[in-house]
Amino acid sequence: MAPFRIEPQFVDRVWGYRDLRPWYDREAGSQPIGEVWLTGDQCLVATGEHTGKTLAGLFAEAWGALLGAAAPSKDSPLLLKVIFAKEKLSVQVHPDDKMANKYGEPRGKTESWYALSAEPGAEVACGLKPGVTLEQVKAGIADGTLEASLNMLPVEAGDMIFVDAGTVHAIWPGSILLETQQNCDLTYRMYDYGRPRQLHVEKSIEATRLQTRAGKIAPVALGDRKTLIDVEYFRVQQIKVAGSTSSTSLRAAGEAVSLAYLFAASGAARLSGSGFEPVDLPTRGIVAVPASSPEFVIENLGGLDLIRITPNWPGGKA
Ligand SMILES: [Zn+2]
Repeated sequence: MAPFRIEPQFVDRVWGYRDLRPWYDREAGSQPIGEVWLTGDQCLVATGEHTGKTLAGLFAEAWGALLGAAAPSKDSPLLLKVIFAKEKLSVQVHPDDKMANKYGEPRGKTESWYALSAEPGAEVACGLKPGVTLEQVKAGIADGTLEASLNMLPVEAGDMIFVDAGTVHAIWPGSILLETQQNCDLTYRMYDYGRPRQLHVEKSIEATRLQTRAGKIAPVALGDRKTLIDVEYFRVQQIKVAGSTSSTSLRAAGEAVSLAYLFAASGAARLSGSGFEPVDLPTRGIVAVPASSPEFVIENLGGLDLIRITPNWPGGKA
């Protein structure tokens, strides 16, 4: 299956922006836009023979071609989003695989945030302060003082922050984040600063782990790339493309052939190969490269900052 572009989906959120320019040429309607879903189940294929199908539909029809035969499940493994937070997001927790399975979902949600930009003073809540107990968390939810228990991290452009399942977390304003996460719908809202949205206090407490591995990850540079994060469920790399490069060299040494997503954090690119029409990767756009993709060349059309995201299968990484 040839590489194809996916049409991003703009999702309303009370905490979002009225105007996404210059990031995306998009203004909000009646509600602000908070999330741009790059690989959502309902995102549409924008190029090639499967144009117009939803991503979920394409996975149902052709999971083997997309993921490769070694994939442990047949649905879309990763959800990528760009997050535009004008206000604080709720304090929330996602379940791990085991708890998600208990509630009938195929997987939990471990995620990571890569800062595409950050204003001075930008920060996110990532985990609880050392020594905070579940009793203190419950009391903080009840009396509105939970913020005092949150471990705040300053965010600078280029930072990668790991948020494993069970981590109490909240995105705060000031940064624009590329979020890579397991494709799972379960978010338990613990605290919402008094906004009238529904909370899921009991499940959020059930999902919470007091100590997790969450925090900033230092990049590892090797050759033409920086590995920004490489954990149990996904790997995110930033790859230099001077002029052009081949699909073979986009793959890391020893990497199994699998699905990959290409995201242009800045600049633009074009993928050309035999047997398919060239596919353009616009700024902040997303292209899927199926496991069964023919070889191709990716050309830097100017200013390309290429981020490549691949799933890791559970058990494959510690
Ligand atoms: Zn989250």
